[in-house]
This record gives sequence, C-alpha cells and structure tokens, in this order.
Amino acid sequence: MKKKLEIVKQNVIKCIKCDLCKTRTNSVPGKGNFQSNVIFVGEAPGKNEDKTGEPFIGIAGKKLTIALEEAGITRDEVYITNIVKCRPPNNRVPSNIERNTCQEYLKEEISIIKPKIICILGNTAFNSILGGSEITKFRGKVARKNNLLYFITIHPAATIYNQKLVGVLKEDIIKLFNLIRELKNDKDITVDIEYTS
Ligand code: SF4
Repeated sequence: MKKKLEIVKQNVIKCIKCDLCKTRTNSVPGKGNFQSNVIFVGEAPGKNEDKTGEPFIGIAGKKLTIALEEAGITRDEVYITNIVKCRPPNNRVPSNIERNTCQEYLKEEISIIKPKIICILGNTAFNSILGGSEITKFRGKVARKNNLLYFITIHPAATIYNQKLVGVLKEDIIKLFNLIRELKNDKDITVDIEYTS
C-alpha cells in the first residue's frame, strides 16, 4: 500500500499533463498516514506548498492542524491532499481542464488508502468531486456517491479572515471524527445526500 502510494507521489512529482507544470516550483503530492480512515481534500497548493512540495503547510494548513488537534487528532494520523497537485498562478481557482486532468491522482489515492470517509474542504473540492456549490449550506453533511462516503466542510483558509468560521470548522471536524468512530464500530450513519450516479 505504502509502495503504491509512493508510485503515485513520484508520478505527481514528474507530471507534465497540464499547463500548471509550467509555472509550478514543485508539484505537491498528498501526504500523511497511508492507513488513515479519512482523506482530506482541499483545492490546490498555495505559495508555501509550491515552495516546499508539501500540502497544507501555510496558514490554512495551521488552521486545519488546530481544528484536528481540537478533535484530539494529530496531522500524522490523517492523509491530506488536493484536487489539483500544482499551484495555479496567483492562487487562482483551478480550471475544469486542470481539475479533470489531475483527478486520476486523487482517484488513485482513494483506491489505495480506502478511507472510511473523504472530507471535502471548501467549494472547489465540493464542486469537483460532487458537482456541488454553496458550501455553507451543505457543510456538516454526509454524502454518498459510488459507494464512497464524503463529509463536507469549509476550506480552512475561510477561517483566516472570518473568525466566526473558526468555530464552524471546529464543530465540523469534531462531528467528522465522531462519524469515523461510528464507522469503525460498523454502525450505520445518517447519509444526508445520496448521489445516484
Ligand atoms: S496539476 Fe496535476 S495534472 Fe497538472 S501538471 Fe500538476 S500533477 Fe500533473
């Protein structure tokens, strides 16, 4: 499993499948526990991530780390990745072509790790994975599509300038890990949104 994930990582590092390879400093593969019960999926690397090749190490990453710690979880216990593995110039939202081209890597990460649930962070990931929008309306909800469970929440970056959202993220992450505990105990959880295709 670890070896397969390493192959994905190496493929991401050398990937030239979309134009973002021309402007990146480093590709940013997913990182974390390959036996994690949850994969967190954000939008795309930012400046710090591009510089270092590591996901979620800037301010947004710190916000996520704090929210995890408040739920009693450390970063090392989970796996964190993005929809798009290279930084879009000036942190613009990745285009549909870029998202579609890069999605094979996320699919591979999911099929190798086989998490109990995938945590969608923010509108871009919500839109890319489930075709959704209006994250504030759907945050805190569980969705199921193609036999995979998803938990929807805001992007940690949203909490940087809006203090009210700090509590929202905290509340959602605590709920997420309560759900994971239920899933680990083979208990049924409530699915709020069912996707038929
Ligand atoms: S964004 Fe994804 S598809 Fe595009 S070059 Fe980077 S790794 Fe490859």
